[in-house]
Amino acid sequence: MRLVLLGPPGAGKGTQAALLSEKLGVPHISTGDLFRANIGEGTPLGLEAKSYIDAGKLVPTDVTARMVESRLAEPDAAAGFLLDGFPRTVEQADILTELLAASDLNLDGVLNFRVSEDVVVERMLSRGRADDNEETIRTRLGVYRDETAPLIEHYGDAIIEIKAEGEVAEINDRALAALKS
Ligand code: ADP
Repeated sequence: MRLVLLGPPGAGKGTQAALLSEKLGVPHISTGDLFRANIGEGTPLGLEAKSYIDAGKLVPTDVTARMVESRLAEPDAAAGFLLDGFPRTVEQADILTELLAASDLNLDGVLNFRVSEDVVVERMLSRGRADDNEETIRTRLGVYRDETAPLIEHYGDAIIEIKAEGEVAEINDRALAALKS
């Protein structure tokens, strides 16, 4: 199963992806986690990405796409994947489509996690990550509205809507049910 997870920052995509990954038997690939691992290890990629992430801005697409391409080439992703945090722009979506097409592959669907802005701000402020201060959160929500939300229309019929407010387990049940139907 090859799925993209969409939704605003703080929508709980990472939490849901971890649960879905176990149930579907495909890896959870999170660009945010990959960047944070690189920052932690002090790699050149991490050094390049850090200033953008700290400011709540998007890391340049060429850097991000190269990182995703090499992750998708790892053996565990041959069975499928849950892509969380990529694509974040229509340009990145086109890159992903081409990348998959080069191996004769397609996405099976795009899960869109729907949450109100009040809930996402509350969730981000409570998790206390380095880039979760109020100013950065505002920047990231603006980037989401301007650059990422247009992907909902871009993916059209491939979109599977998930109501992402409420309990973690309840949201997970909804996502699994939506994938079955
Ligand atoms: P959140 O879902 O809360 O926004 P992520 O862990 O997905 O958190 O992303 C954290 C940061 O990593 C983003 O604010 C951005 O700076 C960078 N990032 C993640 N994915 C991408 C991407 N596809 N393109 C550019 N930058 C990205």
